[in-house]
Amino acid sequence: MPRTSWRLLRILAVSVSALIFIQSNVIAGLIFNLTDSGGVGAGTDALTGFTSAASFWSSQFDDSIEVNLAVGFSSLAPTTLGAAGSTQSTYSFSSWKTAMSNDASSANDTTMVNNLPSGTSFSTYLNRTNNNPNGAGSATAYLDNDGDANNTTLRLNNANAKAVGLLTADLAAEDANITFNSDFSWDFDQSDGIGAGLIDFVGVAIHEIGHAMGFTSGVDILDIFSPPAMGGPYNDDQFTFVTALDFTRFSADSESAGADIDWTADTRAKYFSIDGGATAATAGTDHWSTGLNFGDGRQASHWKDNLALGIMDPTAVAAGSVNVVTALDLLALDVVGWNNVTAVPEPSSLTLLTVIAVIGLGNIRRRRCRNIGL
Ligand SMILES: [Zn+2]
Repeated sequence: MPRTSWRLLRILAVSVSALIFIQSNVIAGLIFNLTDSGGVGAGTDALTGFTSAASFWSSQFDDSIEVNLAVGFSSLAPTTLGAAGSTQSTYSFSSWKTAMSNDASSANDTTMVNNLPSGTSFSTYLNRTNNNPNGAGSATAYLDNDGDANNTTLRLNNANAKAVGLLTADLAAEDANITFNSDFSWDFDQSDGIGAGLIDFVGVAIHEIGHAMGFTSGVDILDIFSPPAMGGPYNDDQFTFVTALDFTRFSADSESAGADIDWTADTRAKYFSIDGGATAATAGTDHWSTGLNFGDGRQASHWKDNLALGIMDPTAVAAGSVNVVTALDLLALDVVGWNNVTAVPEPSSLTLLTVIAVIGLGNIRRRRCRNIGL
């Protein structure tokens, strides 16, 4: 499909410094560059909707980076609301921790960073691997702390990597692509509510951009690829898919086992914690979806379904209703490296301005929010 690669819009977070310090290589605020991959040309409702969703995130986070989104609006399979994919890269655990520490700007960031595993590797509590000591592919979980590839590697969406300074802030490559199905009946404007029988385009777009920003779990890879039909089971060192958000994923069992994170593909309850699993960040102990195949039937890259935890719920609200972003959504993205404009700052960081630099690798994987799920 031909792609018109003109920049549709650049969205600047509102910032006094943005007005003062604009230079050729200084980015002020979170900028989304939207590129039309089909059906999102000038003057279209879809462009209005995607622009509103990007503007929302720019109003919540002020990382000085550019995020490049290819956006489309075209006919897809009848049960697919939309499809999205992100460009990803891998980093050593040590380099990620250093970046997270340098990027910390809120009290919650500091809590997160201070509770990341010490040393150069982390342990996981997982199952269904080929080298599971309980038997190849066993559902019984075990502690993996042998320090090989999956214990030393982070995989980040490029937008998330930019946010913590692991990728050049204005790297021009596509960070994510999002296409919505033009066959559904959408409402493109949240400001006057969502019309009866219509689906909240902006809310769904906010959700998909949230994934691109790093609201994603590598447990989905374990869950999807472990069945024999997918070539599984695989050895645990092949699962170099642990994300930043996975360091907020715990279970009572993973804590008992002494693991740094819960990475099991099963239905056990997993909770959201920003202090290394010591305490849950919100009420209850069952906050994460647990997987399409072996979990609760929802992708692990979401909150638990239908608990109103946030817009990163795996299913959209009913037609006629607005999808709502919660403080929990913002907290999750805050602690994986986004600078929340409303977060309580660390006193010592008030005067710091982050300088962004560094390196990236190329590695693309597609994620798809399936069916009526997101
Ligand atoms: Zn989703």
